[in-house]
Amino acid sequence: MKKLYFLGAAANYSRKERLAHTFSIGLKSDCEDLTDFLEKKYEGRAMLTKNGRSALALALRVNLEKGSRVIVNGFTCYAVYEAVKAAGMEPVFADIDKKTLNFTVETIKDLKADGIIIQNTLGNVVDIKAIEKWAEENDVKIIEDLAHCTGVKYADGREAGTVGVATALSFGKDKSIDTISGGAVIFRDKMPKIAAPRLKPRRSDALRERFYPMFGAMSRGLAHIHAGGAFMKFLVLIHWVQKSADNKLEMNRKISKFEARRALRQLELLDKEGEGTIRDFYLVEKRDELLKELAEAGYYFEGFWYEKPVSPERYYEKVGFPEDSCPVAVEVASKIINVPKFYSEEELAPAMDIIKKYVEKA
Ligand SMILES: *Cc1c(COP(=O)(O)O)cnc(C)c1O
Repeated sequence: MKKLYFLGAAANYSRKERLAHTFSIGLKSDCEDLTDFLEKKYEGRAMLTKNGRSALALALRVNLEKGSRVIVNGFTCYAVYEAVKAAGMEPVFADIDKKTLNFTVETIKDLKADGIIIQNTLGNVVDIKAIEKWAEENDVKIIEDLAHCTGVKYADGREAGTVGVATALSFGKDKSIDTISGGAVIFRDKMPKIAAPRLKPRRSDALRERFYPMFGAMSRGLAHIHAGGAFMKFLVLIHWVQKSADNKLEMNRKISKFEARRALRQLELLDKEGEGTIRDFYLVEKRDELLKELAEAGYYFEGFWYEKPVSPERYYEKVGFPEDSCPVAVEVASKIINVPKFYSEEELAPAMDIIKKYVEKA
């Protein structure tokens, strides 16, 4: 029988990790240990949050006035837009460079802003020296968003998260630290006058997050009979699974304790092994044809990063994205395909042979 892979649609934990995740015990001390770890690593004051977008909203709120204009990468996740809005601020989208999927000094220099969120898309770093210089000259505060790039180093050797006035981490599905949900913010400059999140995680959320990797594995199993997608859709319908984009922003809600424990394990591992980038990307011609050919070979690609300049597609209209001022982001969103790094080269080889045929010629 053909080997089938269900790429990027469900948490791809190994069997061992799956069990460890679902039956992990979390204690209050796990939250304290994670907070201590983050405070040492990023040199600031840390708070644990329900998810990455809540962390990002707190980072903005503590460092910028309401109504501030905040530069956001023109190729991003709806969560980032949502965080800026929830903080009471105005997102200003900047176009990207095709090679790094990040804004550059060239694409931000004419924008008026009070803050800028550096996201290091898919683990590809920005030219930090140049952006830092521009930010200093224009009195713009840098916030780093590590959802894609925990542990990644900039060209000058500094680690992502050690540059800005605040740093936000996400522990969401398929992020560089993945415990299904959770996040953290580190205040490195202005200390918060607000209290740490106080509300307990909802029991329904915690259960859902515990069992998600199990459901992911079941859906991959069902992919053999082409029922994996339908199974996932059904679970979403009955609220046993939640799509990442629908994870609600709540600045006052705590992380689940077991997720704090899992996040700390992963962060410690990352420090030892020093990886962090999450996806390799390719810009291709005739993407629809490519996806068909990949599916015929047993490779199902779902949930690209990103299929629209601000994804997922169902939220795109709501954002009012300035397509005219971000043409590269629009083009890239129509051509990109990306491959999560948790697969081995061997597993991916047949898919890569197909993808290579479609890669855009420079
Ligand atoms: C996913 C994501 C976040 C926040 O994610 P949560 O789902 O809220 O944890 C922030 N920034 C980027 C770039 C992301 O992709």
